[in-house]
Amino acid sequence: AKTAGKRQWRRYRPALQEGMAERHELQESLDQAPIETSFTVLYQPIVDLASGAAAGFEALVRWPHATRGVVLPEEFISLAEESGRIIPLGAWVLSEAVTETIRMQTLVQADTWATDRHSPYMSVNVSPRQFRDEGFVDRVRQVLDASQLPPSSLVLELTESVLMRHDDRVLADMRAITDLGVRIAIDDFGTGYSSLSYLRDFPISLLKIDKSFIDELGRSPQQYALVEGIVHLADTLGVKVIAEGIENQNQLELLLSMGCPLGQGFLFARPLAADRAESFVLAPNAD
Ligand code: C2E
Ligand code: CA
Ligand code: CA
Ligand code: CA
Repeated sequence: AKTAGKRQWRRYRPALQEGMAERHELQESLDQAPIETSFTVLYQPIVDLASGAAAGFEALVRWPHATRGVVLPEEFISLAEESGRIIPLGAWVLSEAVTETIRMQTLVQADTWATDRHSPYMSVNVSPRQFRDEGFVDRVRQVLDASQLPPSSLVLELTESVLMRHDDRVLADMRAITDLGVRIAIDDFGTGYSSLSYLRDFPISLLKIDKSFIDELGRSPQQYALVEGIVHLADTLGVKVIAEGIENQNQLELLLSMGCPLGQGFLFARPLAADRAESFVLAPNAD
């Protein structure tokens, strides 16, 4: 057993070193990439489950790389967090997303057939380091002032790891954001040390139930009851629930039956380039 263990160690070591070298290379490439010309933002519809209309969109960043193809955020967001690059990158995503929201809202207003359609909101991911940065709240304020977007059309998605740090600044900054009229969503709810007390202790308007719960929804009555309980409690507290990662009709029907108002997932649309997202606003059932 001992020799087998040794052999395994030898086999994995080069791979590990390679991984680190590659990570380092990616980090360098990330830190040097000019933000405006290197990254793009895609928009995934957040759908009103009862009607199928786009209630809003989530902005998701992509890094089309000359030699690697499109690098997904799983691979570079943590690197950008480490180097601090996430601060200018996140600021750029925010301003791109706000500009795109204005465009979508203008389209809806100009579409005479869309009388029953509401202007979509925009949801933007904020990483922990970005949120902790001193200039963050001011930057949100500046982007809103420059764009004239109604603040209620902007949602910032924070993960539970931000809320877990029990310091007064987190709460003060969240209040400063909601005082602007911007809403806050908890992202990936259920994956961390989730606590429904967050909904009571922080100014939160939306709660995004993590895909892992939606995956399990049809597998057992307990899983169903768990999600239903979250949906109902959130409703009681005035918090809107968004189910993440809806991939099939069965999941949609179960969510509708428990009164879950909003959802996103490949069943409705993948993250879309801006022009296709705009088409979705005007004709959600077109494809
Ligand atoms: P997230 O915030 O939980 O975003 C949802 C992820 O689930 C997205 O992956 C989306 O493409 C994917 N997704 C949506 N519906 C489905 C579905 O039905 N099935 C499956 N399998 N996946 C689905 P994406 O775009 O690769 O982003 C991954 C993560 O990277 C995000 O997870 C978020 O944590 C982070 N991220 C993306 N863009 C940004 C950004 O601009 N800033 C920051 N700080 N983080 C970002
Ligand atoms: Ca998110
Ligand atoms: Ca999420
Ligand atoms: Ca996630």
